Amino acid sequence: MQITNLFHHPPIQGFQFGSALYGKPRMYVYVYFVDGLLIDTGHSNARKMILSHLTKLPVEQIFITHHHEDHNGNLVDLQKHFQVPTYASALCTKIMENPPNISFSQWMLWGKTAPNKNIQPIDNQVTTNKYTFQLIPIPGHARDMVALYEPNEGWLFSADLYIYDYIKFCMDNESMAQQIASLKRVLALDFQYLFCAHNPKMKNPKVHLQRKLDFLENFQQTVLKWYQKGFPPEQIMSQMGLTKMYWMRFISGGKLSTLNMVKSVIRDERV
Ligand SMILES: [Zn+2]
Repeated sequence: MQITNLFHHPPIQGFQFGSALYGKPRMYVYVYFVDGLLIDTGHSNARKMILSHLTKLPVEQIFITHHHEDHNGNLVDLQKHFQVPTYASALCTKIMENPPNISFSQWMLWGKTAPNKNIQPIDNQVTTNKYTFQLIPIPGHARDMVALYEPNEGWLFSADLYIYDYIKFCMDNESMAQQIASLKRVLALDFQYLFCAHNPKMKNPKVHLQRKLDFLENFQQTVLKWYQKGFPPEQIMSQMGLTKMYWMRFISGGKLSTLNMVKSVIRDERV
């Protein structure tokens, strides 16, 4: 089943796209459009539906927040259609030339990322006719990820920094210490609306970001407490009463798991 819901916060248009092999989708991706700027392009498993909406827009430029497959899955088609420049952080541009392999579960859920050499690096700001978006590095979930911040309007397009107040698993290359630093960085900004790529928050966005920060800091401190006592990651999980989510680990080939969260904290500590 494929679903599109429209989300309108004038002058921003949001498109909520979901797809699932059967039944209602459980995960959605948001693509945003404002003043000629398209922010991300959705996942390739829902390409037909996504292109039918996005190709109608007066797109003048495209920005990719990070290299994950649910953000750039339709970029090649949209570039062909619009013939407009695409921008991303310098690191994202580099990664997109030869994107890393994804797990079976990511492929099933979202589809894959096509290599792309037609993205221009930009690290300071993106301007449209009416707005100037500052680019805020928010590494952690992905090392190349950036947010777009429009201080005059109080908008923050936060890519995958928020998603939810807490997480139950993460990818094998995420950095919890960097996510914590990124959350603190955006919490110091002045904004009223959070355009998250999976779960926008139009009310009290900072309360939600603070909850995520508190959750991650608490998780990090607890893991470190056991790590410093000499416990290995699997035992730290049992001490913390965390369930192993074997099915998730299995279908993702270990790319997604709760154990990755524990390992991420320990890896950051070792650097
Ligand atoms: Zn992501």
